[in-house]
Amino acid sequence: MEAGPNPDPPSALQAPWLAPPIALLRRARAAGRYPTGLLIHDERGAGGVALARFAAQLALCRRPNAPCGECRDCRQFIVSQHPDFSELAPIEDSRQIRVEQVRELAERLALTAHAGGATVALIAPADSLNANAANALLKTLEEPRGAVTLILVSAQPSRLPATILSRCQRLRVSAPARAACVAWLERHRGPGPWPVALEVLGNAPYDALAADPAEVARVMTETGRALSEAAAGRLDIPGSAERWARGESFELRLACIETWITACIDAAIGLPRQSSELCSSAYLPESGSDMNIAMLLRLLDGVYELRRLRLTSINRSLALEQLLWPLPRAWRGGAPPAYR
Ligand SMILES: [Zn+2]
Repeated sequence: MEAGPNPDPPSALQAPWLAPPIALLRRARAAGRYPTGLLIHDERGAGGVALARFAAQLALCRRPNAPCGECRDCRQFIVSQHPDFSELAPIEDSRQIRVEQVRELAERLALTAHAGGATVALIAPADSLNANAANALLKTLEEPRGAVTLILVSAQPSRLPATILSRCQRLRVSAPARAACVAWLERHRGPGPWPVALEVLGNAPYDALAADPAEVARVMTETGRALSEAAAGRLDIPGSAERWARGESFELRLACIETWITACIDAAIGLPRQSSELCSSAYLPESGSDMNIAMLLRLLDGVYELRRLRLTSINRSLALEQLLWPLPRAWRGGAPPAYR
């Protein structure tokens, strides 16, 4: 089976690295110590939202073997119809959770649960709460009604006010090692060049579920080949910049450029690559000995800047050109990096 689309992401119970936080939550519930505020501090794509959904169902299900998956609460939750479960996410395009959304949520939470059970709200990503929204949420955390659970998910909890952090019990979620991520993706999505895809997209298994690994590998190989040519002074830079800027996968292209420069730096300082497939795909310059690392680091800064600005109205083509022109100078004496 080739990797195909996957409409339903695997639940937290299907992610072995989430077993320890799941055990903690089960113990807290069994002891009647389920937190009012729960902050899931996840590494990007490590499954924080899947864990949050598990935590929500655990709070809502009233059976001893919760979440049983069979009772009325569980069935309503699974089809996103539970009357006492709310989800807050940024309103489309705004990338912020606004104060009106939190006030509306607070009103719902102030009502007694429809079926006399728990009331749960999931807020993700919690760091997208703007300042006013965070203040409004704090009031809810300060005056909790019985059996209310607020679940916050954030990869950057330092962006949340300390007053909110201090009222939440924190659970840390990290992605497993690369090999385990690859095995998990193969199990849920089928075989594919997952090591290369994870090298480009980051070790984020839940994010990678939505990716087409063959396409990521194709763009990575093409980009690596072109950058090697650019470093050797043989690439039509304006033409490539123009084509890449118009391409649908601009963000993926930037991720590939970043991966290539990082791989060059690692090679120059003698660091082994995590993905052996990436090395054997033979798109890296042959020898790191004459690379100018300071120059490569500056190029990397340029890529970060472009990633930051990619959603603005910048001239992508021109920005890419500016990034590519200095590439030959990163190899001292203009030594062309060989493409094998
Ligand atoms: Zn149940």
